[in-house]
Amino acid sequence: MQGKKKERSFVTKVMKATMEFGKRCPVCGEVMKPVQVISSQRSPRSGAWRFNTTTVMACKCNNKEVFGA
Ligand SMILES: [Zn+2]
Repeated sequence: MQGKKKERSFVTKVMKATMEFGKRCPVCGEVMKPVQVISSQRSPRSGAWRFNTTTVMACKCNNKEVFGA
């Protein structure tokens, strides 16, 4: 049995700037870049960490949402 651990929730963002699909956003005209967003969640039941990886296309429109800036 492990002691009670701190609940933690964080998001790690990795930007792969070298990968460009060449798709331009029709809204801002920027080339959209694939960004890998890794989020970790702790299961309240088992206490195990779960990692979810999502790839999103980032441009000026959702920069703030993706990077939390
Ligand atoms: Zn855009």
